[in-house]
Amino acid sequence: MQEIFLEEIAIHDIVTRLGDEITRDFQGEEVYAVCILKGAALFFSDLVRAIKLPVQLDFMQLSSYGSGSASSGQVKILLDLASSVEGKNVIIVEDIVDTGLSMHYLMENFRHRRAKSVRLCSLLSKPSRRKVDVRVDYCGIEAPDAFLVGYGLDYAQKYRNLPYIGVLKPEIYAKN
Ligand code: 5GP
Repeated sequence: MQEIFLEEIAIHDIVTRLGDEITRDFQGEEVYAVCILKGAALFFSDLVRAIKLPVQLDFMQLSSYGSGSASSGQVKILLDLASSVEGKNVIIVEDIVDTGLSMHYLMENFRHRRAKSVRLCSLLSKPSRRKVDVRVDYCGIEAPDAFLVGYGLDYAQKYRNLPYIGVLKPEIYAKN
């Protein structure tokens, strides 16, 4: 690891704030929280416990960067939701919005499925890397243009179980 970007305690504070924001915005309603596997799994499990509302959980997996670190720009649904989102308040829970291509595609997809509302909650956002405009309704923190791992984020399926988020040494992914 080159350096630590977010310590465990900082992650906890961010998750609590995001949970409070969602709780406030959806008072008196139910939300349908959609975890984008695998990267958002740890964030998702902490976030849903910080939302003080009735919450239904569902899971989706999109095609990812494979085992490398560069985006292909192609989005594919590898695992779809278990139930319909029609008429529901969907909150997509993502780890990082980078180019924005995946979330741009998915938010449009949910609107076609006639969700009542579609909002995006992302722990991290890299605005300097955007290729398409995506509104992150609940944003944890802006991240630098560096490759991050830990707290669900992987490099070649490793590091997901780290309790903090760190910057991976470029030598590690430059080899591929
Ligand atoms: P986008 O479609 O916005 O370019 O891609 C977002 C996805 O790329 C994230 O869900 C995540 O899987 C991956 N990604 C983007 N930046 C990073 C990073 O710094 N570290 C890791 N591990 N994955 C990243």
